[in-house]
This record gives sequence, C-alpha cells and structure tokens, in this order.
Amino acid sequence: MLQRLALADVIAARNRIEGIAVRTPLKPSESLSARLGGPVLLKIETMQPTGAFKVRGAAARLLELSPAERGYGVVTASTGNHGRGVAYVARHLGMRAVVCLSTLVPSNKVAALRRLGAEVDVGGANQDEAFDRAHEHARTAGLTMVSPFDDAHVIAGQGTIGLEIIEALPAVASVIVPVSGGGLASGVALALKSVRPDIRVIGVSSDRGPAMLRSLEAGRPILVPEEESLADSLGGGIGLDNRYTFSMVRDLVDEMLTVSDHEVAAAMRHAYLVERLVLEGAGASALALLLRDAPAVPPPTVALLTGDNVDPVRHRQIVCGDGCRATEEIHRACAQQ
Ligand SMILES: *Cc1c(COP(=O)(O)O)cnc(C)c1O
Repeated sequence: MLQRLALADVIAARNRIEGIAVRTPLKPSESLSARLGGPVLLKIETMQPTGAFKVRGAAARLLELSPAERGYGVVTASTGNHGRGVAYVARHLGMRAVVCLSTLVPSNKVAALRRLGAEVDVGGANQDEAFDRAHEHARTAGLTMVSPFDDAHVIAGQGTIGLEIIEALPAVASVIVPVSGGGLASGVALALKSVRPDIRVIGVSSDRGPAMLRSLEAGRPILVPEEESLADSLGGGIGLDNRYTFSMVRDLVDEMLTVSDHEVAAAMRHAYLVERLVLEGAGASALALLLRDAPAVPPPTVALLTGDNVDPVRHRQIVCGDGCRATEEIHRACAQQ
C-alpha cells in the first residue's frame, strides 16, 4: 500500500524548513491582471536562497534523516535546481552531498553546484541514466538517495508553497504550477485542495517531452524521449516505478497543458521587461501559459515562478531577441503581446 500524504504532512514540513527555505512574496502583476480582467499574482520562488523552490523539498527531506544517515551524507540526480537545493541544505547541516547530472545539463548549473560544495558527477545521456548512477553511489557508499520529486517529504516540502498562497490570498481561484516530475504540483495541489477543493490547479509542462502528461494519457508511467528545451528544468521522466506523483497529479491536478519554447521565450521577455524579473525557461512556463490562455484561467490566479537559474548570456540573447534589437523596440513588442 502506498503511504498517502495529508495536509498535516505539509504543515509539519513547513515547521521543519523554517530558517532554511524562505516564505516568498506574492507580487501582483498589473499587466497580467489587466489582461485577465482580475487579479494575477506572481509567487516569486526565485527569491529562495538557491534561486528555485526546490530548497523547500530538500530541507524537508534532509531534516528527516537519522543521525547515522546524516553521517554518511546524501546523493541525488537532478537537472540542476534540486541538486542545488540538496547541496545548499547539506552544507547548512554539515553533510556530504553527491549530485549526478546528465550531459544535457548546462555548464552554469554544474559550476553553481560545485560552488555550493557538492561533489558533482556528470555523465549519462539523460536524466534516467544519471538517476541510475545516483542509485549506484547510494549502494556503494551508504549515501541516502534524495529523489527530486517522488518522495513523500520532498512533496510535502514543495507543498508549503500551497499553504503560503492560501494564507496570503484566501480568495485564490486558480493556481498555475509548472510540472516535470510532479513533486511541486502534487504538494501544492494537496495543500490547496485540502483547504479549498474548488481551487483550480492547472499544470504546465514543456511540449518537448512532457513525461507526466504522456503518462497520464497512457494511464500509467511511461518512458518519454527527453528533448532539449528552453525549459530545461522541466526535462526528465517521472520514473516507471513512480510511487507518488503520478497518482497525485492524476487525482489532484485539474488540467495539464503544454507550452512551446517560443512561448517560454516570450514569457521570459515579458518577465524581464514588464515584471522586472529574471526567470529561467521552466520558471517562466506558468507565465507563458497565462500570456497565451488568459481567458481560460479564473482569477484571482497565482502563477508560480519557480526558478531563475539561467545562464546570463543565454538570458540576454532571449530577452534581446535576434541580433539584440533596440530596447525601445522590444518594449513596444512586449506591450502589444
Ligand atoms: C524542478 C523544477 C520544476 C518542476 O518541478 P517538479 O516537482 O519536478 O514537477 C519547475 N521549475 C523549476 C525551475 C524546477 O527546478
């Protein structure tokens, strides 16, 4: 039998992670509110110490380890932000952290992990292969494997975002959540629906290899070929032996949609030029959905801006567009979007 998560687990996680993960602001967006005809608020998870929400789940998980497990340390496979979260929390707790990454992960993310004190192991063509190597480290060195998403404590940790949203905005009608492995969506949907089942939870994935969406369509976890995308943090599978997130997303998330790289790029531009925020592709995916499908989203709505770990040169290219047109021209284009 699967252990089922409950609101109490999210509340317990919130108490544990205080002092490591921060309570992030909910910032009203004037431009998106005007477009939607009702309040749109941005949950700014880029203000976490590692620039992404994953520090919540990592803290919730690592703080549950026994003293013996802490002594050996932890290992994980991650497209970057989970690894950063684990590395950050491990350093905070004085533990060893090994992070296994596939060769698809951008070099800025690898360097950032090393700066956080993690031992980085780069290899394998995709996320699933990196995952296998992490398991190997766990077997041979006694390290505890920390799943990026399919773990009850990690899910409860990410769910603390849902608690913060409903406390700050009790009238919230819909929440847009980026989905990769589904730990974030599972936790946030659990917290929101436990308090107010009528809140609409909308999941958004990249149209380049949306593993959760394809698995839901198939009725079971399936392997989906990984593709490079601007929303690289949304890459990777959900695991054929998925224990939690497949059923939680299936049961708790109302709707799953995808966005294209083109739409994600437009959202990154909008974030920078209009909202004054630097976002990575995955971090802008909820905005991409809003910019495209605003009429279908009931306000008040909250868009989760999940991360900002983007290479600055790449970000500048995306924000400037081809050949870096004059700033004024870009502004005009954004204003018309
Ligand atoms: C991990 C991540 C996601 C998706 O979270 P899951 O729990 O894997 O669904 C979204 N955005 C960013 C920036 C992430 O790092």
